Amino acid sequence: MKYALVQVSVPHRNVDRAFHYIIPPELKDKLTTGMRVYVPFGNGNRRTEGYILGFSDKSEVDEAKLKSILDIHEDYRILSDKRIALGAWMSKKYYSTFNECLYCIAPKAANQKMFSCVSLNRDNPQLHELIAATKKRSSKQSQVLDLFINDAEIPLSHIKSILDIDNAPINALVKKGILKMTQYRSYRGNYNKSVPAAKPKPDLTEEQEQVIRLIQKENRPVLLHGVTGSGKTEVYLRLIEDVIKTGKQAIVLVPEISLTPQTVERFVSRFGERVSLTHSKMTDGERYDQWTRAAKGEIDIMIGPRSAVFTPFENIGIIIIDEEHESSYKADHSPRYDAREVAMKLAEMYGAKLVLGSATPSIVSYYKTITGEYALGEMKQRVNKSMPKIEICDLRKELASKNYSIFSRALHSAIQDNLQRGKQTILFLNRRGFSTFVSCRKCGYVMTCDHCSVNYTYHRHTNSLVCHYCGKSIPLPARCPQCGSPYIKYFGTGTEKIEQEVMRLFPTARVLRMDMDTTKGKNSHTNILEAFRNHRADILIGTQMIAKGLDFPNVTLVGVIAADLSLNMNDYHSGEITYNLITQVAGRAGRADDPGRVIIQTYNPDHYSIVCAKNNDYFTYFKEEITFRRIMKYPPFSNVFYILMTSDNEELTVKAANTMAAILNKYNSRGRFERLGPAPAVISKISNKYRYRIIIKCEDEERLKAYVLYCVNIFSAIKELKKVSISIALNPNYSI
Ligand code: ADP
Ligand code: ZN
Ligand code: ZN
Repeated sequence: MKYALVQVSVPHRNVDRAFHYIIPPELKDKLTTGMRVYVPFGNGNRRTEGYILGFSDKSEVDEAKLKSILDIHEDYRILSDKRIALGAWMSKKYYSTFNECLYCIAPKAANQKMFSCVSLNRDNPQLHELIAATKKRSSKQSQVLDLFINDAEIPLSHIKSILDIDNAPINALVKKGILKMTQYRSYRGNYNKSVPAAKPKPDLTEEQEQVIRLIQKENRPVLLHGVTGSGKTEVYLRLIEDVIKTGKQAIVLVPEISLTPQTVERFVSRFGERVSLTHSKMTDGERYDQWTRAAKGEIDIMIGPRSAVFTPFENIGIIIIDEEHESSYKADHSPRYDAREVAMKLAEMYGAKLVLGSATPSIVSYYKTITGEYALGEMKQRVNKSMPKIEICDLRKELASKNYSIFSRALHSAIQDNLQRGKQTILFLNRRGFSTFVSCRKCGYVMTCDHCSVNYTYHRHTNSLVCHYCGKSIPLPARCPQCGSPYIKYFGTGTEKIEQEVMRLFPTARVLRMDMDTTKGKNSHTNILEAFRNHRADILIGTQMIAKGLDFPNVTLVGVIAADLSLNMNDYHSGEITYNLITQVAGRAGRADDPGRVIIQTYNPDHYSIVCAKNNDYFTYFKEEITFRRIMKYPPFSNVFYILMTSDNEELTVKAANTMAAILNKYNSRGRFERLGPAPAVISKISNKYRYRIIIKCEDEERLKAYVLYCVNIFSAIKELKKVSISIALNPNYSI
């Protein structure tokens, strides 16, 4: 074959295809499909990364115009045929370019890190004489030689640090032919923390055994609905054990915030060095190296968030998605892939098992067990047989009886009680900062961000007003910017205020706070959790960072300060999010021998998501939720496409939105697609950009995509509206 077809990694739709390149003679025998190469591209012949998708004897253009491949990046295939097919599938499914999909599937190219080892040059016949001369003459060199009493191969860096020398004496010995230097590949990002010895494997409970049997015999994906603490992780460990015994590999997806040392240790202590993990704080080099280890078969188990679904195992036996209801499994930028769907596709391609586990399955996934697309496995009992007792506390009644504190009397006395018994408490509020609403008492002026249609949140620690959307922060003004009055008032509660109130009301309690503001440092997240685990604090206050996956045996009380926050967010997911949050937070209580108690404060004590969470009644909640969605035509019964138009000129944005609506109207002659809007987006201005949205609903996903993409294309060709950017999202996690 004379030419290679190279998909060039340039992020533009109009070059999202393979181009012909000449294969230079020196690469003729080395190139295969799926290799990563470098090619000259564009007018400047920029050195550009690309992937070989195939070969051809015929060229699309005149041979004289063709350029040659420059070189290869790795001397092995980076994309198997299956991965190339996956990219094509994703690009269609998620209406993104093939290149964008390949960015997910292949690790970003990074240099390979090498290290040098030094050993005696046994091939040299005069070795012994040379050593004897050298030992007499140079003391530095002879010190080095003393390290090589046996046939050791010693890393160069060790020699230098043991003897506290530079390269000179070693180089001299190499030059004389006494020592030789060998290069090895070193892998960045290996898990290298010490791990406690594996505990003996527990005898499985009956529910665990049943579920494992079910998963082993099922060909369909299995949704594992197991209450918090029912032993789902133990089930995963057993399934993985079986899979790797047969020489296959396992991928375990967990939400980034549950990727705590505690979780990782359970896997590493069972499977040792065959486990690797990825996370978002990894450098490109670390990710590249761990990806390479997976591709070379040096590990069998990868644990990580959403992106770990692309781990290049070519013999996948099982994919496990823990906390499958988590919104983080869906990407919120292009390609807007859903790791659950990608996992399903991979499972199909590789004949692998797919297990989706959760105490609070997403409505969409649970519905699939009703239609038969998934099988359902259930674990209804905690391993310790004790579910926490959940109480609802009606905040309206507290107000009526003149309790103006953040804490209801029930929660106040429960905290007091827990402190006295030396037990730990978790207080949950999904809002950071101190006050969420700052206004002037005289004229009513509300402090809002100049760049966004968002109220400032007051942060007491820094005495500043912070916009949680664009991040802008200003010092708290001493006087009202509108009328000059000094009477500034604070409303609303964030975690910072809870912290202050706890310290005021329970002065002896040791308190930790975990939210975005206290976890900016590299290890702060781990440090806070470890401090709490080691009982260096009595009360942990936090946002949803503390809601999931944590297992603290000494926590017997969980307080939810305001269950209404998520209910009031004006989004069709609000019932689901509320049920999930309450159940997950409640699941942190009473995980060991002492029974747990959960107190939920709310102004909506009769809302089904709160009542069902209290009763641990998933099915009733599911029925309420699915009925609402059927009537309102929301997923899983319909698909919702958001079209968002933004620009820095409000008038122009409105004009664009109206134009878009007219186009959508024109091509909807049969009325198949339901349109809502145009209307201002949920947040109508962010960072000085005005935001308008249109929502289109339709049952048929393929039809809906084709229609919207067609209309967006027409819109994009309108010159006067070039300054308006347009973005689209199908069934996003949150209303836009
Ligand atoms: P989940 O993932 O469902 O929340 P875990 O797997 O974390 O539950 O299990 C909860 C606790 O019970 C953990 O401390 C775990 O070590 C323990 N556990 C799990 N299975 C068993 C078992 N069969 N026997 C005894 N303890 C178990
Ligand atoms: Zn004022
Ligand atoms: Zn802002």
